Order: sequence, then structure tokens, then C-alpha cells
Amino acid sequence: MEEVKVYVDCLNMNHSGDLVRCMDCGEVMLIQLGGTSCGECESENIQWYDEDKPEWTMEELEKEGFIVIEK
Ligand SMILES: [Zn+2]
Repeated sequence: MEEVKVYVDCLNMNHSGDLVRCMDCGEVMLIQLGGTSCGECESENIQWYDEDKPEWTMEELEKEGFIVIEK
């Protein structure tokens, strides 16, 4: 199962954010909606984890079986 770093303080009120992968450090993370940089290394070289579903909630991640790591 894949780990997802979730920047809880950056999410909106219903816990949704943009699910992206950083192409430099390889981390998968849920960042603030419209965010453009990696929360770990600050690279702007990030891509959608799933182009068909850019926006996820923490609850959806847990339901899909991701390992959620709150940051
Ligand atoms: Zn990064």
C-alpha cells in the first residue's frame, strides 16, 4: 500500500485537497487545493496522482487503502 503524506492544516474544511506526486523526491501527498509545490522538498515538479481525480478527501484515501500519514 502506498503512503500519502497529508498536510492536514492546509486542507479545506471538509478535508479535501489535491493528491499529487512529487517527481523529484517521489512522495505522494495531499496538499492544499491549487497548491503548486511539494511539501517535503518544495519542488514545483509535481504531477496529479490520478489525472481523472485530482481532488481527494482524507476519508477517501483511507477508504481506498492508502496509508495516511498526518503532517
Ligand atoms: Zn518533493
